Amino acid sequence: MSTLSTIAEGAASRGVGRRGWCPPSLHSPGIARRAGVAVGMCLTLLAGGATAANRLNGIRMHDAPDHTRVVLDTRAAASYKLFTMESPARVVVDLQDTKPAPGFAVPRGGGDVVRRIRTAGRNRTGYRVVLDLAQPARPKQILLKPIAPYGHRLVIDLYPATGAPPEPVTRPPDSERLAVVAVDAGHGGEDPGAIGPGKVQEKHVVLAIARQVKRYLDAMPGITARLVRSGDYYISLRGRTRIAREKLRADVFVSIHADAFRLARVHGASVYALSDRGATSEEARWLAAGANRADLMGGVEGQSVSLDDKDPTLASVLVDMSMDAKMENSLALGEAVLGALSGTVKLHKRHVEQAGFVVLKAPDVPSILVETGYISNPAEARRLATPAHQRRVAAAVAAGVQAYLSRRPPPGTMLASMEGGGALKYVIKRGDTLSEIAVRNRVSLRSLRALNGIAGDRIRIGQVLLIPPPGTGS
Ligand SMILES: [Zn+2]
Repeated sequence: MSTLSTIAEGAASRGVGRRGWCPPSLHSPGIARRAGVAVGMCLTLLAGGATAANRLNGIRMHDAPDHTRVVLDTRAAASYKLFTMESPARVVVDLQDTKPAPGFAVPRGGGDVVRRIRTAGRNRTGYRVVLDLAQPARPKQILLKPIAPYGHRLVIDLYPATGAPPEPVTRPPDSERLAVVAVDAGHGGEDPGAIGPGKVQEKHVVLAIARQVKRYLDAMPGITARLVRSGDYYISLRGRTRIAREKLRADVFVSIHADAFRLARVHGASVYALSDRGATSEEARWLAAGANRADLMGGVEGQSVSLDDKDPTLASVLVDMSMDAKMENSLALGEAVLGALSGTVKLHKRHVEQAGFVVLKAPDVPSILVETGYISNPAEARRLATPAHQRRVAAAVAAGVQAYLSRRPPPGTMLASMEGGGALKYVIKRGDTLSEIAVRNRVSLRSLRALNGIAGDRIRIGQVLLIPPPGTGS
């Protein structure tokens, strides 16, 4: 591990040097106070010695729960100086040799952190962007290379200086707590994930599916679901497991993706559990590399992972972990979800695959990554973009998670004290219909379908149905 970690850090710091990263130490408040004004003057020297003026194409802003991201879209890699000023608090970005592109408009601010954005030409060839802050904030910035649909970007993350850490979800002290499922929509913000035909972006598709998964799980007895990412913003891979474990105190972690493969004909859903040996197939290797790469394209936090976290993000595909109880639980969770998916969507592989995804490396939380389909397959990309298909996939994922939690209820949960984890079993006999079984058991048809991953009304004799407790759903 130590060798890998050295490689990862070396690669990261080399990249940083080229991109003109400002060392975080330059932004320390001590220096800010002493200098009164200027902090962190970082000037990027363009290696090519380009003389053509750069263009500022636009400014975008997203508020994430713990920070605000401001993105300056530029034609070429920005050469800039960034510094903070006090009373009133503001961040100043001087873009060298840059002009606003025709049609450039300053967005109105009005976010939690940025009150207003102002711009002005400076020294004939420069262009200044001022972020007026609603509260003091610590900036962290990085240059991102183009990745469709985005071009060159200067990304500035503003962390409120006084913000208290978010309240963790507290569990009731008694033994009857709900089982917590962390539902993680992959990618987000500057990391669009895979892009399919018709410009379908993975980050939007998987957030829509994750929201549906949460809705289905919340309707199930003894279970509550939380979204790791609730909007279009970026979270580092390690940040995701940290949120799941420390903030949400999750019992299981389910990451939702819809990635691309180099072969457009590849399609179908698959489920991955953390591997103890690396990938089981070429697709698994490809996808793990893609998901792990996200930290490099998503920016700032991913970059800081390499700087202040010794975990070898870049080399993580080569994880070396021993088979333990958590791994076994992850496989069982994966099998339950795969089983539920098999009744709903076409599967890519009939068994749970294993791959070294960084995002699955929570040591104590059973974790899976669900590839809901391949966005690189034109027909599947179209399907994945429709709410009806998103709901079908989500219902199956939720049903699989519930089946797992029923079989292996986490200690101390309401499910653990329920017979069979809250679900009864029923073997279908001749003449049974799904709606009649629902009426007989005083459960809604919807919750019955969701628990068993059934999309329509088709059931077969001998099939085992899980029956939720009476009064479930509506
Ligand atoms: Zn993905």
